[in-house]
Amino acid sequence: MSDNFFDLTGKVALVTGANTGIGQGIAVALAKAGADIILTARRDPSETRQLVEAEGVKAHVVMADLSSIEPCDRIVSETINAFGRLDILVNNAGIIRRNDALDFTEDDWDAVMDTNLKILFFLCQSAGRYMAANGGGSIINIASMLTFQGGIRVASYTASKSGVGGLTKLLANEWAPKNINVNAIAPGYIATNNTAALQADKDRNRQILERIPAGRWGEPGDIGGAAVFLASDAAKYVQGHVLAVDGGWLAR
Ligand code: NAP
Repeated sequence: MSDNFFDLTGKVALVTGANTGIGQGIAVALAKAGADIILTARRDPSETRQLVEAEGVKAHVVMADLSSIEPCDRIVSETINAFGRLDILVNNAGIIRRNDALDFTEDDWDAVMDTNLKILFFLCQSAGRYMAANGGGSIINIASMLTFQGGIRVASYTASKSGVGGLTKLLANEWAPKNINVNAIAPGYIATNNTAALQADKDRNRQILERIPAGRWGEPGDIGGAAVFLASDAAKYVQGHVLAVDGGWLAR
């Protein structure tokens, strides 16, 4: 173990949905800690690539649409081809659809459940097979406040993110003996594309800020710090945990 618990030098981290928002914040934070980064995206993540390389580590892009499980094995094999190993998987890509439960459509159910839960599981499986055969690793799934709470008008999102919490615990149970740490981060309200409509709605924005003890929206970098912790030796004995990074939202 390195003297610096948080040093990721020599490790390879794969971050999905890395072109923007929380995925970009996590990729840059892992790069600052010394990891080489595989960026997966369905749109060119050149901005993230530049930010990662500016930290003095390597970046490699794997283009993949995570609305089906088709690319999961390919993403892992391209990672090994590019950098020779895979130590850290961050399942960040996710979507949300809003509608009243009475009107919620099958398409809005399936699209969100597929990307947020089904493909997340199968990418864990592809990476887990490699890690189990190669000494272990760390998997970090991005959950939500709606892993703990019900939310409103986001039926499939709540179902998917609640599922991410359960799946994280199941995988920790099965894979901790294989030296694979599986944990999740539950972001609070983070300023990204995903929440642009909420930030732009004056009343909702005020209501949200009034409930956050920290008194501000989170930044993608706030989630990056938690990812470095869970990816590092500092978290070796942390298994199946869902870490809220929410400015105190759940404490209210
Ligand atoms: P974002 O800015 O909308 O980023 C979402 C990322 O997922 C983007 O890179 C997006 O790619 C990617 N993605 C979505 N569907 C994909 C697909 N089929 N194939 C490949 N990539 C796909 O939102 P964010 O806020 O950073 O969200 C990141 C994660 O954090 C999500 O899992 C979200 O549920 C979770 N989260 C966010 C908040 C928040 O307050 N922002 C709170 C709790 C949890 P494109 O850019 O190409 O669409």
